[in-house]
Order: sequence, then C-alpha cells, then structure tokens
Amino acid sequence: MNCPNCNGTNLVCKKRVEVTKDYIKSDLMHCNDCDILFLCNPTWLINAYEESFSCDTGHVIRNNSLASKTILYFRIWQIINRTADFEKCLDLGTGIGIFPRLMRDKGYLFYGFDEFSSMSLIKPFIASDEMMSKIKIKTSFEVIEHIPSLPSFLREKVGDVNLFLFSTELRDVGKIPNLNWDYYNFEVGQHISFHSIKSLKIAFKKEGYDPDRIFSFGKSLHVLANTRKWIIAFRLARIIWKINLLFEKLQKILLNLIFKEKSLTQSDFSYSKKLIKNIR
Ligand SMILES: [Zn+2]
Repeated sequence: MNCPNCNGTNLVCKKRVEVTKDYIKSDLMHCNDCDILFLCNPTWLINAYEESFSCDTGHVIRNNSLASKTILYFRIWQIINRTADFEKCLDLGTGIGIFPRLMRDKGYLFYGFDEFSSMSLIKPFIASDEMMSKIKIKTSFEVIEHIPSLPSFLREKVGDVNLFLFSTELRDVGKIPNLNWDYYNFEVGQHISFHSIKSLKIAFKKEGYDPDRIFSFGKSLHVLANTRKWIIAFRLARIIWKINLLFEKLQKILLNLIFKEKSLTQSDFSYSKKLIKNIR
C-alpha cells in the first residue's frame, strides 16, 4: 500500500477505529514520510453521507465568518491594486452553496461546484468544466479533510491559480491526536484525512506548487498566494482579522451582559452528538 499523499510506503497503523453509526472498522494510518494521518480504505463514504444532518450546528456561523474574512481580504487586494474590478471566483466543494451565495450578495462573482451536492442555494451559478479551468481565484472550505488524496484534488480541481483560499484543521507536525479529538468525528465518518502543515506542503509541492507561498491564519485557514500582491494582502488581512476577533469577543460579552444573549451553537452540537451516539 502507498501513501495517498506522497506515494511513499513508510506507513504505520496507529489505531484500529470504528466509523459511522454502523461501526465499520478501519485503520488510522500515519505516513512517516509526509506526516499525513488518514483512514485506510474508506469504503463507507456513501453510508457516511446518507444522513443529511451530521450534527454540524456551526455550519452557518462558520460560513458567515469565512465570507466576512474573505471579503476583507479581497478589499485589501483591491486597494493595493487600485481597482474596484474583480474577476470570477469559484468555490470548490461548495455543498448547498452558502459561501458563494454570501459572496454574491456582496457583489463578488462567485460560482459553485460540488459533485456530491444539489448546490441548491447557488443555482444557477454553477461552474462548467470550461469555466473551472479558466478561473484563477478559487476557494474550498472544509473539503480537504473529506478527500482521500489532496494531490489528485489539486491536479484535477484547483489547477493553475493566482489564489487558492482553503480551510482544514491542522495537527501539530508528527503528533497523533487522542481519539477524543472532535475533528476525527468517527461517529459520522466523513473526515478521512488529517493533515499537518508538513503533509499539506508536501502535497502542494508534489503537484508543482511552491510550498513557500502557503500561509496560514491560525490552524484552520490557509492560502496559496501565487502573486506578491495576494501575499501582502493576506499579511494585512491577518492583522485586521485578529483585531476583529477581539472586538467580536467583546461584543459577545456585552450582549450577554445586557440582553442575556448566549449562542446555542455549542450546546446544540453537544445535544445532537449525544443523540447520534444513542443511535449507534
Ligand atoms: Zn506520505
């Protein structure tokens, strides 16, 4: 067996785990060459996507946050370029299309693409194959942990881009998180690839991208910026995102004090997860 990320053979089984509500057995494998951690032979994916509700109560809030961050990033790039024009953009693995819809609501020409979803919110703005190869600004959020091979995804879907903004939560290099790490989400069985910055950069390098052009904001949001202006804009955006985070926290505290507003996202997630565990 070869590593799906680097094609190496230096693989070690770290744990035998049970995934989906049907307790399908799989090996959690680690590649000593590139550091990817992955679930072996994911034959259960059709079952894993059968249930449309995967207790992801934070889906809307995360899309809102990603859209605000992306818009700020784009605006900074526009200021640097002294232009208000913006080219077409594509969101890969768009799901029902919340993110590109939010971007279009702000006037950005976003299209969606997803082989496994109805894309109901972004219809009829679906990218054709021809359009996909021409668009130079692409995004892909919460997709990489769902796909067995990042190099194939980069080759077939991302291609030649000026900017690729994406998310996936990274492990520390060389570390195997405990089995209680929420991100494994074995009960649902949709997450199958767990990258570190090392495995991520190796995949990009393998497909001919310059890994030194990958930058991150925290552990989850990353960018491949292929032009100097996109890199500068990202560095500036990162500073403003950090300041905004502080303001958001302050706003939450104030709203809780004045109106007793407290988000139900996390408690709803815990409740839903308990229900799924009971079904198992
Ligand atoms: Zn590998």
